Amino acid sequence: MPDKHEQVARTILKTTEEARRRLNEFSARMLRTRGGRIGSGMGAVIEALWGFFVNQILLEDAKCRIELARMYGHDYNDFACIGRGVEWHPETREGELLRVEVKSMVASADESKAHFDRLGHELHETDLLAVFLWDWLPVPAPGGPPPVGGYVSPQVKDYFVGRASDIAALRDALHRECGGTFVESGTCPDKCAVDACLHIGEPLNAKGSRERPSGPSSTRTKTVSYQANFGGLVRMLGCRTPQARSIVRKFYAESPTVKTHLDFAARNFLRVAKVLRE
Ligand SMILES: [Zn+2]
Repeated sequence: MPDKHEQVARTILKTTEEARRRLNEFSARMLRTRGGRIGSGMGAVIEALWGFFVNQILLEDAKCRIELARMYGHDYNDFACIGRGVEWHPETREGELLRVEVKSMVASADESKAHFDRLGHELHETDLLAVFLWDWLPVPAPGGPPPVGGYVSPQVKDYFVGRASDIAALRDALHRECGGTFVESGTCPDKCAVDACLHIGEPLNAKGSRERPSGPSSTRTKTVSYQANFGGLVRMLGCRTPQARSIVRKFYAESPTVKTHLDFAARNFLRVAKVLRE
């Protein structure tokens, strides 16, 4: 990653710690409730709040020359880091330094569903991935001791921010090791003409079924339209062949981003910790 981008990425990572503090404090005050449910869309709220708090912190620093913009339209990315006050053209990325895709996972859910399934060739070298691990945690009751079945609010417990393409490289290597493939030019299962095929790079699982809704339509199964295992941030480590373990070890040793990501996952998910220990 070029120096300037590296520096911006470091600023965003550094700012995230304070953003998390503000987010959790805001949440304890404003998103306090009794009960709390999974699958409530709260993950999307946390993803958005992170961006707004990071931007707030950046704008408080008069010397800081960047700000975080919320993407509109159907882009994969959630935020773009742009020069403060500069002209911005999202269609061409003019004015931008990098983009951030944000994911969230619930710590106590059986299957943490954060999916990072953007294709390798769609990623820019400078794109960042931010992952937030959160849960409903007890917070003080308003004015008095907590009643039985007390108050909770969504709290970010841990996070990862790092270069997206490094995580995608590990994901893709493990996908292949598990018997998966990617659609290549001229061999599309839909038999598309070479220059008309929109499926290049789409992941297919070991049985040839598509992993994303945009995969070849002839590869859907009778029961599901697509598999959705590809890019599961914890699930991608479920491939347990000796070769898969050596792929994980190699990436862990060679990519500081992957090391940070896997350490984050291992702190929070026992099965990831086991993979790293094996
Ligand atoms: Zn095709």
